[in-house]
Amino acid sequence: MSDHPILEVRDVTRRYADRTAVEGASLQLEPGQVSCLLGPSGCGKSTLLRMIAGLESVDDGEIRCHDRIMSQPGRTVRPEDRGIGLVFQDNALFPHLDVKANIGFGLKGLPAEERRRRIAALLARFHIEHLADAWPHMLSGGEQQRVAIARALAREPALLLLDEPFSGLDGQLRETIRTSLLSDLRDLGTSVLIVTHDPEEAMMIADKLILMSGGRILQSGSPLSCYAQPASEIAARLLGNVIVLPALIADGVAQTPLGAVPLASAPDGPADILLRPEALTIGATGTKATVSAVRFVGNGYAVDLDTGSLDLTVRHQGEPPLSGNEVHVAINADMATNFLMKTN
Ligand code: ADP
Repeated sequence: MSDHPILEVRDVTRRYADRTAVEGASLQLEPGQVSCLLGPSGCGKSTLLRMIAGLESVDDGEIRCHDRIMSQPGRTVRPEDRGIGLVFQDNALFPHLDVKANIGFGLKGLPAEERRRRIAALLARFHIEHLADAWPHMLSGGEQQRVAIARALAREPALLLLDEPFSGLDGQLRETIRTSLLSDLRDLGTSVLIVTHDPEEAMMIADKLILMSGGRILQSGSPLSCYAQPASEIAARLLGNVIVLPALIADGVAQTPLGAVPLASAPDGPADILLRPEALTIGATGTKATVSAVRFVGNGYAVDLDTGSLDLTVRHQGEPPLSGNEVHVAINADMATNFLMKTN
């Protein structure tokens, strides 16, 4: 498989009358990868996706697919001529067509035999053969999604765009549908860009994360690199809680109120150190702190601590301390990947 990017978005901007929805966004997608565009509601994800799909024009910058220019200011290749499939959040199917006709809708130009072959292959790939003759209103939400995705893939696009595909599903069902859909898409080798505002979901499914906030791309890379080496405090907070500790750095070691933190490369002087909550442990040694609250959060406890000079929330596994008790909190040296640094 070639490493040449499938899609390149270069410095793309989109302005509306009273605001800039996307500003100077650049990203690149590699073939066969699942990429997730993650950011809070209103940060410009859908606008960027719509520009990639050709549903919106760009005001600045350019978008290339397989090195062909798709969008430039004043020039937008039509969505159907881009070789890019898009599935919206609502999975809207044509209500007057059955499942196989929905999937074959974009294949009218093909010989009947080839059309039948592609529809049959997609029905099998997405495990919906038994629904071939069903009507959209007879399908569950998860089944409608499979049909919508099969329809988008019928024309064998180079890239599939999915806008918040799991947002209408809850809990266990969400996880089941997500796992099986991702496994089918990976088997197919499809390149996929998924928009989501759920960090846990994004880290779970993405080969590549693209973090977005306020219309800008903050960082892209593997989930681990984005989590452990965030480009900024805003990027760090998109993927989970952070603890900010004041520090003084000298000779590659930051002295904080909770102890020393080794840093790979950092200039001497004052700095703020960002830690993930799991980088702190409650134990027999460390800085004294009073437990101000304890909350069960499913995979452990969130323990609020007051050291006198700092308020912290620490993740704790096992028997939790009691509210009002005095404990010790220390930096966990094994969690070196969670030492992030932000110089002042
Ligand atoms: P997200 O998908 O991350 O929730 P959107 O791309 O939908 O964000 O929106 C980004 C910003 O652009 C928001 O402030 C939104 O109100 C604004 N916006 C989106 N579409 C339009 C439009 N057609 N006209 C004016 N403003 C828009």
